[in-house]
Amino acid sequence: MDIMTNRLDRGFYMYQEEFEKKAIEVLRSGWYILGKEVEAFEKEFAEYIGTKYAVGLGNGLDALHLAFRALGIGLGDEVIVQGNTYIASVMGITMNHATPVFAEPDEFFNIDAGKIEALITPKTKAILVVHLYGQASNMAPVVDLCKKYNLKLVEDCAQSHGAKFNGQMTGTFGDIGCFSFYPSKNLGAFGDAGAITTNDEKIAGDIKMLRNYGSRVRYYNEKVGVNSRLDEMQAGLLRVRLPHMGELIEEKKKIAEKYLRELKNDKIVLPEVREGATHVWHQFVIKCENRDELIKYLKDKGVGTIIHYPIPPHLAECYEYLGHKEGSYPITEKYAKTVLSIPMYNGMTDEEQDYVIDALNKF
Ligand SMILES: *Cc1c(COP(=O)(O)O)cnc(C)c1O
Repeated sequence: MDIMTNRLDRGFYMYQEEFEKKAIEVLRSGWYILGKEVEAFEKEFAEYIGTKYAVGLGNGLDALHLAFRALGIGLGDEVIVQGNTYIASVMGITMNHATPVFAEPDEFFNIDAGKIEALITPKTKAILVVHLYGQASNMAPVVDLCKKYNLKLVEDCAQSHGAKFNGQMTGTFGDIGCFSFYPSKNLGAFGDAGAITTNDEKIAGDIKMLRNYGSRVRYYNEKVGVNSRLDEMQAGLLRVRLPHMGELIEEKKKIAEKYLRELKNDKIVLPEVREGATHVWHQFVIKCENRDELIKYLKDKGVGTIIHYPIPPHLAECYEYLGHKEGSYPITEKYAKTVLSIPMYNGMTDEEQDYVIDALNKF
């Protein structure tokens, strides 16, 4: 059997008729950028997340970039972010010429809230929380710190659509929530797409202005903006998938529960879910000390795996100028050397799950 880490085709065939109907509708509409599909999606997505506003964008990186820009964070400012995140979280900060300050993660792969306060300086302007792999971060202490030090709070929800902390949806805790709808994400489009969520009318308006060449009124440009518009096709297709989020999350949760129940091997460490948090299982991430051996063994059995992420941002070539060295963030680096994502996707069959479990248990 050949089992890939993700199967985007399965996610399409689950709702094939609805997707095809919508695609034809958009094609025939004669309107392809910033029209009624985007407007409707923004309204429906804001409703789903529980914020007053959502603004559709071209992708998740732009959501992060424009979030910090709208908050006025730039040169000379520091933003605290966990070290073990996808590089886009950090690029959203540095595209604004601000400086990322890395915090070590906790045992749930999210920012270790207890280690944030020591990193706060007079230059600190914001905390960027990444709900990594789909599990909501420990938000209560982060919200308190932001109040105490008057910091902006931005959430990177690219992997956490629908995840909650103490019953509250991720993307509603801070000033701005940043979402990606890259095809492999839990709410995936069929191309690049993203959005921000916020309760602040001015922020929503400013990001709408920035996404369209800095223009609120056609051909009147108040800022040097960008072109980062969600298109009608992606918005329409996202509107098809959004109402199914409940069942999609439930299906992944069942797969994760089966993995947690049936995976039994001393050589691997299973992921844990924090009390009060929910996990929407964007990735099912195990840890293994002899990871290279495990990857090869699984590959020989036809089981695909992927490392999220092999090089932490502080050691990435593009961030050499920040001056970090190997050993600066031991927990982050340890995760980079031991984490492994195993197959996890909507439409995964029982046979595929059993095959993965059997292979891992025999390692
Ligand atoms: C995918 C992802 C992004 C970037 O989203 P794109 O749509 O690919 O630009 C940002 N942060 C995290 C944590 C992600 O997983």
